[in-house]
Amino acid sequence: MTAPTASRRHRWTRRDAYNATCTECGTHAQKRPSPYGRRWFTEWRLPDGTYTDNYDGGKTPPCIGPEVTA
Ligand SMILES: [Zn+2]
Repeated sequence: MTAPTASRRHRWTRRDAYNATCTECGTHAQKRPSPYGRRWFTEWRLPDGTYTDNYDGGKTPPCIGPEVTA
């Protein structure tokens, strides 16, 4: 069995309807309503403190796992 390293799945723990945290890497995901339309997008706060989102159709950032947390 080969371990997939390119696209690990996050292990989400739901905190409420809009927030979830990955127990593997610490990435926090928050569902946010678009200010310009009736749709939602997801914003992620990565373990290094940077933010990214899929407002423009971006993909979920890969799970980097717990081994990176020094
Ligand atoms: Zn993760």
